[in-house]
This record gives sequence, C-alpha cells and structure tokens, in this order.
Amino acid sequence: MTEVLVIGAGITGSACAWRLAEAGFSVTVVHEAPIGGEATGAGMGHLTVHEGEAGVWELALAGRSLWERWAEELEPDIEYHRIGTLWLIPDEQAFILARRLQERFRDCGFRTELLDPVELGRREPHLRPYWLGALYVPDDATVYAPRAAWRLLERARARRARLIRARVVALEPDGVRLAGGVCLKADYTVIAAGVQAVELLPDLPVRPRRGHLLVSERRPGLVRHALVSMSYSATVESRQQASWAFNVHPRPNGQLLIGSCREWDVWDRRPDPKWGAQLLQEACRYIPELATTNVLRSWTGLRAASRDGRPLIGPHPQEPCWIVATAQEGLGITMAPAVAELVWAYISAKEPPLDPSPYRLEGRLCPNPSQSASTAAL
Ligand SMILES: Cc1cc2nc3c(=O)[nH]c(=O)nc-3n(C[C@H](O)[C@H](O)[C@H](O)COP(=O)(O)OP(=O)(O)OC[C@H]3O[C@@H](n4cnc5c(N)ncnc54)[C@H](O)[C@@H]3O)c2cc1C
Repeated sequence: MTEVLVIGAGITGSACAWRLAEAGFSVTVVHEAPIGGEATGAGMGHLTVHEGEAGVWELALAGRSLWERWAEELEPDIEYHRIGTLWLIPDEQAFILARRLQERFRDCGFRTELLDPVELGRREPHLRPYWLGALYVPDDATVYAPRAAWRLLERARARRARLIRARVVALEPDGVRLAGGVCLKADYTVIAAGVQAVELLPDLPVRPRRGHLLVSERRPGLVRHALVSMSYSATVESRQQASWAFNVHPRPNGQLLIGSCREWDVWDRRPDPKWGAQLLQEACRYIPELATTNVLRSWTGLRAASRDGRPLIGPHPQEPCWIVATAQEGLGITMAPAVAELVWAYISAKEPPLDPSPYRLEGRLCPNPSQSASTAAL
C-alpha cells in the first residue's frame, strides 16, 4: 500500500489527510503543536472568493463549493454558517470594481445583488450610512477552522490514518527525520506546514504576512453579514509593507471578529497594540455602537504568502515525492478542500479537478534560499 506522510495538521494538512485516507492510502500525520493552531487558529474562517493572481480565484471557487458538501459531513460543531458577504462600496472607483466582480460571480453561477444605500441600511441597520452601496453575495459562509481541522483529522483517523506528535526536522528522499533522530519512511511526503515550510525547504518563495484580529463580547444582531470593504482586495495585492481594510464578521454566538491587516515579513507573533487600536478605531468609524462594546482578546497569525501571490501546490522539482501545499495566503481555509483534491490527484496520478499549472513549483523556487523569507525584496 502507498505510504503517505503529511507534515502539519492545520486545515490544509488535515484536509489532505482525510482525502488521502478516504482514497485508501496509508496516511501518517506528523504534527507537534495544538491541532489547528498557527494560521488555521488565527484566521477569520470566511469562505469566500475574491480576485487575485492567476489561479487564486479558481482555487478559492473550487474550495468554497466543496465546503458546502464538507460542511454537511462535518457539522454540527464546525460552525458552518451561511451568513453572506456584503462587499461595501466606498467610492465610484470601487463601484466599477463591484460591477466587474458581480459579472465574474454571475459567470460562475453565484447569486449576487447590488444594493443601494437604502437597502444596505435596511439589511445592516447599525452600519453608518457612509457607503455608496454593497455587492451582496448571499451564499458565502464562515466556518470555525480549528474545529474543522480536528474533525477532518478525526475522520482521517477513522480511516486508519495515524497521528504522530513530533516535529519534522528534515526531509529525506524516502521520508522524514524527526527531532530526536527517528526516521519515518514513506512513498510521498506532503508538506502542509504553512509558513514554516521554509524551514524544511528553504528554496520555497514563502514569506510570512502577519495579520491581527480582535474579538468582541456577544452583541447578537449588531452585524448580520460578513462586512468587507471593497478596498480589501487592494490590501491583499499590496506590495506596501503594511495595509489594512475594514472587515467585520459575526460569529454564530454573537461575538464579532474585527480585522484585518497585513504586514510583510514579520515573524514576531506577539500582538502589537498599535494594530489593535487601528483596527478598532476603523471598525468604530463604520459601526458606532462598537465603541460601547468590550473587546475580549486580540491575536496575530502568519499567513504563508508566495512572492508572486500564487499558492505553491505540487511536487518539488528536486524530489517529486515531496508534495508541497502552502502559500494560500489569506484564503487557505476556503481553499483547503480544493488543495486536498490537487494533492490527491498528484499522489494517485489521476486527472485533477482543476488546472494545477498556476500552482506548480517549477520556475518559482528561490535560486538563493536566503531570499525566500525575511530578506526578500518587496
Ligand atoms: C489573521 C488571518 C485571517 C485569515 N482569515 C482567513 C479567512 O477569513 N478565510 C480563509 O480562507 N483564510 C483565512 N486566513 C488564511 C488561513 O488561515 C491560512 O491560509 C490557513 O489556515 C493555512 O492553513 P495551513 O494548514 O496551510 O497552515 P497552518 O494553519 O499554519 O498549519 C501548519 C501546521 O503545520 C505545523 N508544522 C509546521 N512545521 C512543522 C514541522 N516541521 N513538523 C511538524 N509540524 C509542523 C504547524 O505547527 C502548524 O500547525 C487568515 C489568516 C490569518 C493569519
């Protein structure tokens, strides 16, 4: 039987483990930290699609539609919640973008609605009447990703996948070496280690992109949809060291998640109070009642970002049995089921469900590995 090692039990590794175990492979997951910690535990869990580099849209689209099926299998406690997204339009320029986005969504069979300010106010009565309107995407959802990673891993283990609590310190042509020196053999190794993949493969063009989030006390009904400024996509594509956009979602329990910002090449995971204040101030500007709401906690997470903005998914050119699955940046939760499909297709030599070429590693590795992360030029 084909042996597969999966490094990392974030949402990507757990999704791959389940897909591969279901397909009948002998799967071993190697993971040291809490399950679903790191980026998966830090994320907002918004299952959505927005424009980006080549292939980003398609991978997110495929992931988002697979989540609808996965949610039925993994419910109830993964908190899959179809709250819909309101892409808020701040100015005329964004209005043009919203129309373009609406057409693209329509071509993909999404339901959408362009709301004028009156209708927006009716649907979000606590939102300040500042926006020119919103593009409504009713079928977008949110999910509690750390719990989903747990559930996926449980499902994989029910299909005889093993979990080994250890740290991988090196990749070998036929497996991995663990801290302490033990070697595990496998036919394939899936590197689903998030931003830490560069520790094992320094030639990967992966860089951390730190984000801060806040969570409030319960205010049921204060916000009803995922509210995201249309300027959000610009922050994703920004080459500026730091960028942010208004982004507030309700959790099913009534708490509000408040984001979001991006900082290139910051490895430090300690929250910076400056960002907490900035995000809260911005959110209060648009939802004045937030000013009288307690914020309970703030945290950071490191998104794994590639230098060209495209995820890195596929065999490593040096060792084709090393299958890399990282650099999904701020859409890794959405993309996880689709990434698992691509990984499964590589390992079983089957036709992939979507064109894998935008994500392949060929021609994208760092000739000088020291440039892969913190020293990379913006
Ligand atoms: C602030 C923020 C908001 C976000 N919001 C969203 C959102 O709304 N929607 C969305 O789709 N995405 C979002 N994302 C992105 C998403 O969270 C990530 O893309 C996704 O969680 C990546 O999952 P992963 O499993 O690839 O990596 P990780 O979650 O980082 O998991 C990798 C795991 O591998 C383990 N590991 C690493 N190296 C080793 C080793 N050598 N040995 C053993 N184990 C190892 C780590 O401990 C870690 O747990 C957000 C991210 C952040 C930071």
